Amino acid sequence: MSDDDERANILIVDDLPEKVLVYRSILEDLGQNLVIAGSGEEALRLVLRHEFAVILLDVQMPGIDGFETAGLIRKRRRSAHTPIIFITAFADEMRQAEGYAQGAVDYILTPVVPEVLRAKVRVFVDLFRMAQQVRRQAEERIALAEERTKRSAAEEANRRLSFLAGAAAVLGQSLDVAVTARDVARLAVPFLADAAAIALREPPHGAGGATLARADGRGVRVEDLRDTGPLPAGLRNALSHALSGSSGSRSESELILALPLRARGRTLAVLGLSREESGREFGPVDLATAEALASRAAIALDNARLHREVQHADRQKNEFLSMLAHELRNPLAPIRNAVEVMRLRQVPPELAWVRDVIDRQIRQLTRLVDDLLDVSRITRGKIELRTEPIDLGAVVTHALEASRPFVEAKGHRLAVAVPREPVHVIGDPARLAQVLTNLLNNAAKYTEEGGQIWLTLRTEAPEAILSVRDTGIGIPPDMLKAVFDLFIQVEQAIDRAQGGLGVGLTLVKRLVELHGGRVEARSAGPGTGSEFVIGLPMMQGAAVRIADFRDGQMATAPASLRVLVVDDNVDAAESLGKLLELEGHEVRRAHDGPTALATADVFRPDVIVLDLGMPGMDGFEVARRIRDRDEGGPLLVALTG
Ligand code: ADP
Repeated sequence: MSDDDERANILIVDDLPEKVLVYRSILEDLGQNLVIAGSGEEALRLVLRHEFAVILLDVQMPGIDGFETAGLIRKRRRSAHTPIIFITAFADEMRQAEGYAQGAVDYILTPVVPEVLRAKVRVFVDLFRMAQQVRRQAEERIALAEERTKRSAAEEANRRLSFLAGAAAVLGQSLDVAVTARDVARLAVPFLADAAAIALREPPHGAGGATLARADGRGVRVEDLRDTGPLPAGLRNALSHALSGSSGSRSESELILALPLRARGRTLAVLGLSREESGREFGPVDLATAEALASRAAIALDNARLHREVQHADRQKNEFLSMLAHELRNPLAPIRNAVEVMRLRQVPPELAWVRDVIDRQIRQLTRLVDDLLDVSRITRGKIELRTEPIDLGAVVTHALEASRPFVEAKGHRLAVAVPREPVHVIGDPARLAQVLTNLLNNAAKYTEEGGQIWLTLRTEAPEAILSVRDTGIGIPPDMLKAVFDLFIQVEQAIDRAQGGLGVGLTLVKRLVELHGGRVEARSAGPGTGSEFVIGLPMMQGAAVRIADFRDGQMATAPASLRVLVVDDNVDAAESLGKLLELEGHEVRRAHDGPTALATADVFRPDVIVLDLGMPGMDGFEVARRIRDRDEGGPLLVALTG
């Protein structure tokens, strides 16, 4: 028997099996489920478990009789309203039955007239089935309605999730604190609020400022405010409340919400949301969404702060490097001068060897320090190109001059291909030569002795292409981009006797980019050689004036000059002076500005070599005074680290 059955259940309660048999045969025609109980107790058990359309109840039974059973049936919630038909021999007994009239009650006298019993039972069955149908329809309608609310809740949840995902994407894009603050405020309007304000604890807002976003007719307007004065009063109060202490988000009213943005245990900012304009109250879901936005915003702000700190550290590192390079450079000049002095004097052979070692090492050191200086200048945006229309062919010639000794020292063959026609670009010839020299030196450095190097210049409009290719150790694919980063070196199998700091290619890339060009490293992997390709924008138009390069001849000058060397570094002045004397010049030295001026007055030099950075009166000041005194004056040569 099942309650879901299309048929209705009819309960027959009688202690006499032969009477049960009679009822059965009468009611079978109705085609319903007939359930039999032999006692009141059994009937009670059954009504607990099943729903019945009607109960036929014999009044006279041993144990609990029919009336008592009916009373208990009525007490059960499930059966409180089930129709009961008493079967009795005495019509007047039925007055008692009125006491159970909560549900429908009827009675039938024995001996039973089959048609009467069948008719009464059928009425109740029909009623029951009608009720069931109505209930089923109602249930269906409720289920449908529930389904619909569930679906719209799911849609709502989806909207919120995609809002938060979008917010995370937007907030992930900027590492700038001010931009992040604006993004947070803009994101909140209009999805979460009519107006949103964010106040940061630190600059750019510091104490007092805020960023406000609010919907106006055309969209969302965002503005940075110096102080919270122009904020709507509700938002202003909420922000100042939240900033002055209490953690945890709080509703100032149903229409205003203040959320602290906390990361790593610190409150970085407060986000205020207002719905005063529209009057939509913040519900629990809104609060949850706002808090999720706040936590993403806090992370974004924290990242921006960390980034700022890292940048600051980076700037300090660069400043340190540039200072270091300057300081290292100062002692290099006197050492080189001293070596030159040794070269001009006859020295015993064993000392000549010493001199050459010092010479080679000091050149290497100078190159490294110069590269470092250049990199720090570039990272601080302090390099200026002296651009002019030039022929790249001439740049190639100059670079080759500088690199050839090193390339030949390693026994490499060098093939150079340059078009017959000039290739014009706007560029700084010295810097472009430096770029090519760097690439050629690297090719020589990272190729086993006796290798091959190709240097080619060609045009692929609108670019001029310079390529330096070698048969060297090659570069692993994952390092092709990274080699241009500062201090990056591929782990070398080759010994590192040539040293290097990993700044050369950084310099190459920055210089090429300053020219509006691009540089790229190519290699099929370790052992297969490397190629560095530079693309520079070619000059448009044919009529160009090409700066003529000097052909390396020194300008003619008298054999002996009067030279005043001014440098507060005594060694530097001493060694440079010595060098000039050996070349046949007459030299005086001065170690500060006033002495230099006094000496110049009496000595009347043709040339003054003037260190710019001196304590007290600096080189610029000395130069100005000398020019003021004497229009024609001596040739001034500036000297600086
Ligand atoms: P450095 O040569 O001082 O280490 P660079 O910036 O000039 O610094 O080069 C960076 C790194 O790129 C080198 O350490 C080397 O690993 C790799 N590299 C540069 N040029 C070549 C080349 N022609 N062949 C193979 N590797 C190279």
